[in-house]
Amino acid sequence: MFGEQIGVRMGGFAVALEEPLAVDRPATLLHQRAEIIDGHMMDVERIVPGVGQQPGHRHPPAPQQRQPPAPVREIGEADERLRADPQLEQIAVILISGLGRPEDEANGLKLGAADYIAKPFNATVVMARVALHLQLVRQRRMLERLAHVDGLTELANRRRFDELYAQEWQRAQRNGWPLSLALLDIDAFKQYNDYYGHPAGDRALRAVARTTAAGLRRPADLAARYGGEEFVLLLPDTDAVQARHVVDDVCATIAALELPHAASQVSSVLTVSVGGVTLGGHGPESAAELFEAADEHLYRAKQEGRNRVVWRAALAD
Ligand code: GH3
Ligand code: MG
Ligand code: MG
Repeated sequence: MFGEQIGVRMGGFAVALEEPLAVDRPATLLHQRAEIIDGHMMDVERIVPGVGQQPGHRHPPAPQQRQPPAPVREIGEADERLRADPQLEQIAVILISGLGRPEDEANGLKLGAADYIAKPFNATVVMARVALHLQLVRQRRMLERLAHVDGLTELANRRRFDELYAQEWQRAQRNGWPLSLALLDIDAFKQYNDYYGHPAGDRALRAVARTTAAGLRRPADLAARYGGEEFVLLLPDTDAVQARHVVDDVCATIAALELPHAASQVSSVLTVSVGGVTLGGHGPESAAELFEAADEHLYRAKQEGRNRVVWRAALAD
């Protein structure tokens, strides 16, 4: 989602690449910083807004303008400000501080720093620690990805859908917004596998997933693989008419892929059935009920011959 995010804080101030560094011992530290950045931190992409710096500074301030090191309580405040920005909250902050007592270190770590280095610091050690934290960031991202993304289709997985669905349900309730939900199931997919083989089935699943995701129109819209050959579309703040447009387009684009399906009774190409529902003024009491409604509509779409959409604006009374 973001570039590598490591902020290095020196002298109690947040610093980052390309931002001026406020330090208390200018010459040597600036020199060391340049060395760190040029030599070893080029893959640190994100710029952390400096704390205690004038916005817009692109060059190190003149020595007389440099600010004294912040006491630890200011570091805490800086941390809060950093963490208040949702884009930055995951940054691992390494504190480099003139306060070298063990209790200072403990305090810095308690405040949320990922690491604490007491001055005078050694550039090689700082570089090694930064490298370590970058590695941790990458590993965490990889785990998040594994936890949230379906390996075959690269869509959001069921777990991710469940999380976002709960959130969007709450949001819709709170704001009185509509919420549309569609379950999309490939028709006669067992026969597809039997006829064309499992690897071809996997390719078809990926194609349907890509097409489904490409049909989304807003950043908050979500396409997820719910399981097997079933996908789910979550369309927040989307009424039934808008949702039908999205879903009809997706179905038409999937049919236009013209993936041959010689074993299907429904069509000569791969098709899908969709059950959809929109939460409106009246409706289900819970997210689970809304989901069940979509599932019932999917069942009806299958019963009525497949290759079609069954949609309701709200649950039948
Ligand atoms: P319907 O039209 O009623 O939906 O029939 P269907 O054959 O699509 O439904 P059914 O539930 O009988 O079969 C689903 C098939 O989807 C069976 C299963 O092997 C296949 N499938 C599920 N996950 C995967 C997958 O990851 N890869 C492949 N190739 N096939 C999968
Ligand atoms: Mg199915
Ligand atoms: Mg199916």
